[in-house]
Amino acid sequence: MAYLWQLHVMLGTMMFVVGTVVGSFLNVCIYRIPWEKSVIWPPTSHCPHCLATIEARDNVPIFGWIFLGGKCRNCRQPFSVRYAAIELLVGLLFVAVYLVDGVMPKEFVDSNMALLVKVLYHVVLVALLVTITFIDADLTIVPSLVTNVGIFLGLALGTLFPEVRPVPAEASTALGGLWVGLKGVLVGGGMIWIIRVVGTFVFRREAMGSGDIHILALIGAFLGWQVALVTPFLASFVGLVPAISKLVVSLGKRLAGRKYLASDHEMPFGPYLSVAALILMMAWPWIWPGRLQTYFETFSMLFWFVLGQDR
Ligand SMILES: [Zn+2]
Repeated sequence: MAYLWQLHVMLGTMMFVVGTVVGSFLNVCIYRIPWEKSVIWPPTSHCPHCLATIEARDNVPIFGWIFLGGKCRNCRQPFSVRYAAIELLVGLLFVAVYLVDGVMPKEFVDSNMALLVKVLYHVVLVALLVTITFIDADLTIVPSLVTNVGIFLGLALGTLFPEVRPVPAEASTALGGLWVGLKGVLVGGGMIWIIRVVGTFVFRREAMGSGDIHILALIGAFLGWQVALVTPFLASFVGLVPAISKLVVSLGKRLAGRKYLASDHEMPFGPYLSVAALILMMAWPWIWPGRLQTYFETFSMLFWFVLGQDR
């Protein structure tokens, strides 16, 4: 296979192009879903300023924005760079999925079909989490349409292709795959639910939104309960950077005698859960064997030991 790397470059480029097109569609989803508008009708996009229809040639992902200099062809008002940035982001995430699953797979993939299924499974999760992240970051709402469709897809795909989930959440039968998915939904959703109940009791204010329950349930449906269990911990670390910078800003405002806004305090957790889940999805084959596996085995031994004492 002397030409293997050419094949990888070709398929990787293809993944990037497909990713930017998907990203372009996700822009539409992020914009329309919170207003309960159809994501497929009308099929054309409009300038947010003058409402002129954006022509097909200007609607090419990333390049459309660059060629127009980030401005509407009709009214010359600027388009947000975020549209192009999301297209680029999704393109890069698709390439990352291809790299992890196709170029340097840690887990043995026994056929091209199995590889294709794995890549598709992972890019579907990328698309769902990107949509959730930007809607939550914009409006601090978690779109239940997206989480419900996501939980359903995770359960259905995991039942159809039970071997697709990361070790040790893979299964060999359809029923096994469904069971793994249901456990993921219960552990993921249940964990945030418990944090919410305890947090609300301790801090006397709402800790985490109910939408976060659905996000982690979705992640559990796709990746199994083990990943769902680790995700909130990693999410807290990912969230530390913006949390600290917000703290500095609000402290600065207080010291300057300026009004402390509630919005300085409010932080959606959904984006951090999503980022953490995507990191774990890609890094899992490297971090599970050895390290994490040992922790899980030790904790489950302790868990059953404590439970066994009661009997
Ligand atoms: Zn315009």
